[in-house]
Amino acid sequence: MANVVTQPKTFLSNKVDHFTESVIREMTRQALLYGAVNLSQGFPDFPAPSELKLASHDAIAQDVNQYAINWGSKKLRNAIAAHTQARQGIRLDPETEVTVCCGSTEAMISTLLAVCNAGDEVIVFEPFYENYGPDSVLSGAKPRFVKLRPPTTTEGEWTFDAQELRAAFHDHTKAIIINTPNNPTGKVFTREELELIRDLCVEFNVLAITDEIYEHILYDGTEHISMATLDGMRERTVTINGLSKTYSVTGWRVGWTIAPAAITNAIRKVHDFLTVGAPAPLQEAGAAALTMPDSYYKKLAEGYRQRRDHLMPALVEAGFRCFRPRGAYYVMTDIGAFGFADDVSFTHHLVKDIGVAVVPGSSFYLDPADGAQQVRFAFCKRPETLDEAAERLKKLRRA
Ligand code: GLN
Repeated sequence: MANVVTQPKTFLSNKVDHFTESVIREMTRQALLYGAVNLSQGFPDFPAPSELKLASHDAIAQDVNQYAINWGSKKLRNAIAAHTQARQGIRLDPETEVTVCCGSTEAMISTLLAVCNAGDEVIVFEPFYENYGPDSVLSGAKPRFVKLRPPTTTEGEWTFDAQELRAAFHDHTKAIIINTPNNPTGKVFTREELELIRDLCVEFNVLAITDEIYEHILYDGTEHISMATLDGMRERTVTINGLSKTYSVTGWRVGWTIAPAAITNAIRKVHDFLTVGAPAPLQEAGAAALTMPDSYYKKLAEGYRQRRDHLMPALVEAGFRCFRPRGAYYVMTDIGAFGFADDVSFTHHLVKDIGVAVVPGSSFYLDPADGAQQVRFAFCKRPETLDEAAERLKKLRRA
């Protein structure tokens, strides 16, 4: 070795200084460590539909075991196009407008990598699903946050201030991320709200990236409105969706983007070099999933409504102030009654001493102080799991 003195290097990218590992996923590891009931990470603890399981067995038995077309098997892309047309009335070309990815997680980061340049800004509503910030940073953009304000009563809605949203749009704004039904708040954006966002996207020439993974999980008569169906948005919207939540197969990692051909072309290039493709046999099963009858989706939403209405009274009884979700499968709660300095110490007490894992509110906010008196419960669990959690929560002491 030459006798050269060099400074020790850290070898790390500066980008990774700007975010931490996912707290949601960390809470699942803590649940396993302490033997806690896991109401943190949003995945079902009940079986996936047998139709899907059988379709995946068949695909493997028939040797669909090599790479699919890297932007998605034709069968799945056709099924996505048919489903989207039937449910949203959107006609799309599966040859040029659909990209199948490894979950909606990859769909989101592939989209951001495909559209962002250094110096671009991406608007994100806060509280946010924790991937959006790091995704923006990794793609070279800067996230800019707009607040969703909590309701003052359990029955109220999370809202945003139209002026604050408008002030977030300017020359460098490349995109806005919308997640409806929303994780973690359960907010379902109304047509008026989406039209307001649409008007700003058109005025400032901004792309809408809409994460609609909870599309079918709706309560209390709310309606899911897909941004791409609004006048003027088809050509400036990337719609992200997937199998995970609708068909209870979060571990399969099959999601997709729907976008105009030129954007799809860019997403496909990024996707190709990131992952090559999503699991081929599971894409076959996905095509079968998308032909499920309407009754399947009704039952899915009703099942989650029952779970919501099962868990919420137990939370109130234990001392949490709940914000009733109108969609998705999480309840955001206020923990003020317990007198803890912050959400992280409360969550630690809950997982270690009470035996229930939840997600600390601060992981959904830029400034941890904003979430310091909130925690999120996931209720995509069997009634027995929710009962066990409720029983354990009785041990909690109020301040
Ligand atoms: N969406 C799920 C949640 O918010 C988790 C998704 C994930 O961990 N990839 O809990």
